[in-house]
Amino acid sequence: MFSVRSVLALQLRRSILLLHSSCSSYSTSSAAAVQAERAISEGPRNDWTQDEIKSVYDSPLLDLLFHGAQVHRHAHNFREVQQCTLLSIKTGGCSEDCSYCPQSSRYDTGLKAQKLMTKEAVLQAATKAKEAGSTRFCMGAAWRDTVGRKTNFNQILEYVKEIRDMGMEVCCTLGMLEKQQAVELKKAGLTAYNHNLDTSREYYPNVITTRTYDERLETLEFVRDAGINVCSGGIIGLGEAEEDRVGLLHTLATLPSHPESVPINALLAVKGTPLQDQKPVEIWEMVRMIATARIVMPKAMVRLSAGRVRFSMPEQALCFLAGANSIFTGEKLLTTPNNDFDADQLMFKVLGLTPKAPSFDDAAANVYEAEACEKAASSSG
Ligand code: SF4
Repeated sequence: MFSVRSVLALQLRRSILLLHSSCSSYSTSSAAAVQAERAISEGPRNDWTQDEIKSVYDSPLLDLLFHGAQVHRHAHNFREVQQCTLLSIKTGGCSEDCSYCPQSSRYDTGLKAQKLMTKEAVLQAATKAKEAGSTRFCMGAAWRDTVGRKTNFNQILEYVKEIRDMGMEVCCTLGMLEKQQAVELKKAGLTAYNHNLDTSREYYPNVITTRTYDERLETLEFVRDAGINVCSGGIIGLGEAEEDRVGLLHTLATLPSHPESVPINALLAVKGTPLQDQKPVEIWEMVRMIATARIVMPKAMVRLSAGRVRFSMPEQALCFLAGANSIFTGEKLLTTPNNDFDADQLMFKVLGLTPKAPSFDDAAANVYEAEACEKAASSSG
């Protein structure tokens, strides 16, 4: 004989099972769920159609966030966040007309053009960044390209070698490159080269007119062919439509290999630039962009980049949950403000994040590991 209580318990269990199965069918019905499952079972692919990415991007936000998080946990150690420090080694006076950029000489932003920083100053900044926990040091120069800048380029090659010998990953963003220059940077030990596509091919002429989308893609090709990791992403909040955000992700996700890092920037509108009056990007737009990037390029480091300074810790936590696993640390991002060092330390502690170690395929890795062991030994002694 069944008691009333056991019949009720049975009915309750059935209801829970029913509810569970109906929840599963809801979650598997979104494009984010379908493509996340595919990314987990099949790994990265480069044959995305724009419509496929659009339907992931258009999935209900919390569902997209959830599935971005699932792919992230499958493809990466979800606690690890890469810390990169970006230093402007040659500021301002750029001949290009990127309409978001205070470093363009065409706009009156009050920024003073400077010469290339000396080796001593750059190495000092790299040492400081390393001591603060950064494992990748990026050097940015406000140039259209490096053609005709042989002396400066050779100096930069030297900076790259020295910083690599310190046990850090090294990245540069120097504008467009020629094939041979990419080879030389690789020989010097460069880990990654940053060259953003900024936006979709269609919207691009509204943002920049002094170089073409194809020229940008060519630089990425030279970098990839030289065996340097490609770092390429874009900026949202330039006045583009959602289709353009999808178009940007589509171009990146259909490159011959996905970029190793994909920075997602939120425009920080600077007074004096043509985009000074753009409305600030909302956190939900960032979460949507990050989660979509995570699902369509599962192995890439998705970097929460410019604009992070405007987001609170809980807002940044949503970005990490959605799949971001890299940030820029340091007082400034080239010329715009960045998050405070102590606030970032606190955020890592509160969210239980750990800094990602640099990865090399050569002796520099041993330098870092030896130093890490030494530090661990001295702190436990
Ligand atoms: S984004 Fe780079 S290339 Fe464009 S204006 Fe600024 S410094 Fe020059």
